[in-house]
Amino acid sequence: MRAHASPSVDYERRRPEAGVLYQTLQAHLETFLSDAAEGHDRIGVPRFVEKELRGFLKCGVLAHGFCRFQCTDCRHERLVALSPLRVSRSASCKGRGFCPSCCGKRMTDIAAHLVDHIIPAVPVRQFVLSLPHWLRYRLAYDHERCIAVLAIFIRALLSFYRSRAKSRGVRDGRTGSVTFIQRFGSAANLNVHLHVLVLDGVFTQQPSGELVFHPAPPPTTDEVTELLTTARKRILRHLGKHGLLDDDGTTDPLTEQAPLLANCYATSIAQRETVGARPGAPLTRIGRDPTAQWKERTGPLQAHIEGFDLHAKLAIATDRPGGQLALEKLVRYCARPPLAKDRLHELSDGRIALQLKSPWFDGTTHVIYEPLDFIAKLAALVPRPHKNLVVYHGVLSPHARWRERVVAYGREPNATEPAAAAATQSRAPKHQRRQWSELMRRAFGYDLLSCGKCGGRMVLIACILQRAVVAKILKHLGLASEPPRPAKARASPAAQTDLDYVA
Ligand SMILES: [Zn+2]
Ligand SMILES: [Zn+2]
Repeated sequence: MRAHASPSVDYERRRPEAGVLYQTLQAHLETFLSDAAEGHDRIGVPRFVEKELRGFLKCGVLAHGFCRFQCTDCRHERLVALSPLRVSRSASCKGRGFCPSCCGKRMTDIAAHLVDHIIPAVPVRQFVLSLPHWLRYRLAYDHERCIAVLAIFIRALLSFYRSRAKSRGVRDGRTGSVTFIQRFGSAANLNVHLHVLVLDGVFTQQPSGELVFHPAPPPTTDEVTELLTTARKRILRHLGKHGLLDDDGTTDPLTEQAPLLANCYATSIAQRETVGARPGAPLTRIGRDPTAQWKERTGPLQAHIEGFDLHAKLAIATDRPGGQLALEKLVRYCARPPLAKDRLHELSDGRIALQLKSPWFDGTTHVIYEPLDFIAKLAALVPRPHKNLVVYHGVLSPHARWRERVVAYGREPNATEPAAAAATQSRAPKHQRRQWSELMRRAFGYDLLSCGKCGGRMVLIACILQRAVVAKILKHLGLASEPPRPAKARASPAAQTDLDYVA
């Protein structure tokens, strides 16, 4: 190891451990977990939640190990923390719930993959299906039921496209979609809802075997309402058959298996405090006008029926100039992390203010959290492990007969080959991993592998994992050589609270 002898070294200056999210978990996670283990029938948070919360504290921290890159021209070096690179199993967080770095990488990765290899050069429309609170709660843990509800909506959506095409004289048309199951709302609240990107029209097959795409005219607001009416009726029928309706009075298995998590879910959905000084109380908001009347947001191509909401206004002409970029931006929006680091602020009393991207109907600009309560909100956002949150249907589903030809449709001839190859590959569960540096450049215009001194290219020369070596190099650079330690659990008033709030 001769890093200390190299001519010059730089490193990512924005360290995660300097952020409010990190410091909140560092200071309060152990207290949260120990309270969790003591309260609620001594059943703490499930392991997958604990693992994700703890894992985040290692993510992107140089003192847990890093990679050394060196410029091939001037030998200038750069240290990059391991986690975003995922070169080591032990050091990566791979969080799917809230880690801005890991969720951000996944977002960029899937957007690039969909645009380059899966979504053909045809118009795309986004349908956003929101669900009533009681159903958000049902689906937050029960992933299989969530997939079933999604499948019901998609069946209605695909046949909506088919029958509208038929009325225009296009027979046997088929379309496809990719859905993002999003778990969060704008205030880091649990809000399971669906972002569906559908190919905005149908494909038909010519006698020659060639596919032709027939774009659909935009739906009318009446048609959107009709679609929502049908989908809602079928979803409720399905849930009724399984005894899962709001008023069915059946026991909720989650409150028995994981009472604390159930409570985190219910309070997060209702935007109430989970733990801390005022469990069950509505969250404190800044900028709120208490006299503001709740108004249902309805606009063109939007329908609202008893807590179900369908929005279909956004369409992208991906076959027009700039369309691909707009599509990539939309996919990133659908797959975005729930928390943006720069919107979290610590108040002087230690509470956390989450700044909303745009104010709510009542003027709310910030939502305020007690630190322990904020961790409860993070816990609610963590999806169950190994559950797919991106789902393909119709001609885009992995085993669809037309898939290979659909994904190659309308692409430049030289791009057809990799597209078809990717289509075949994507039958395997994972698509090809992209270089982190390439993704960073694509998403943020930041070139990780460009030398900061001479503009030359940097190459990976070593991954440093050994604690002693890591510490020695960091010390030499005047950086913290030891990873931050989580604060020990404290006795907290939350340990005595036992709230059984159900949304
Ligand atoms: Zn992470
Ligand atoms: Zn250089």
